[in-house]
Amino acid sequence: MRLRSLREQVLDANLELVRRGLVLYTFGNASGISREDGLVAIKPSGVPYETMRPEDIVISDLDGKIVEGDLRPSSDLPTHLELYKSFLNIGGVAHTHSEFATAWAQARTPIPCFGTTHADYFYGPVPVTPQLTTEEIATDYEKNTGVAICRTFEGLDPDRVPAVLVAGHAPFCWGRTATEAAHNAVILESVARMAYYTVGIAPDATPLPRALHDKHFLRKHGKTAYYGQVSRK
Ligand SMILES: [Zn+2]
Repeated sequence: MRLRSLREQVLDANLELVRRGLVLYTFGNASGISREDGLVAIKPSGVPYETMRPEDIVISDLDGKIVEGDLRPSSDLPTHLELYKSFLNIGGVAHTHSEFATAWAQARTPIPCFGTTHADYFYGPVPVTPQLTTEEIATDYEKNTGVAICRTFEGLDPDRVPAVLVAGHAPFCWGRTATEAAHNAVILESVARMAYYTVGIAPDATPLPRALHDKHFLRKHGKTAYYGQVSRK
């Protein structure tokens, strides 16, 4: 069996989405990529999480050709592939229909950065894609979802904003690994819930001042980061 550790990590990322209450039944999917091999490991379609094993994870190349696995991959595979092809630093993708993030996606409203929890993970608002056209929905719907996400990030850095809301659908998140993508999906749901409550308390709430936003994001990310422990590697 190829890519055992990637399969195990992808399985665990999928289970993490369930453990954190982001996924009902078999909704949602996480994947990871080996950039070295140009291969993506993704959840199989419609298999219950309770019985899912590393062997059930499906391996695909970047064109969507199944390289290893007897099961069908998640139907969202073409969306994941578009993200891997366009966002070259990412190593994992997670998709859920988590309640609060999905509510913002359905409202077709970006999530404003109201506080430092958001600023720690997402540099600026979490954007929302344009609505897909009738043609985009009729043919290659899942691929076109990925294309719409990539178009939304023209002029935006996916490494600094590791999430998007697909209009009328739900969030997609990513990260350097499948584990990090799942983690970002959990954080996004929390941030979406807090933003919803913020607007409920103060409908005219304004985004965090730029200086505080920068302070929080930049102390955790990039060259001048100082949050957490120094790596001993
Ligand atoms: Zn979905």
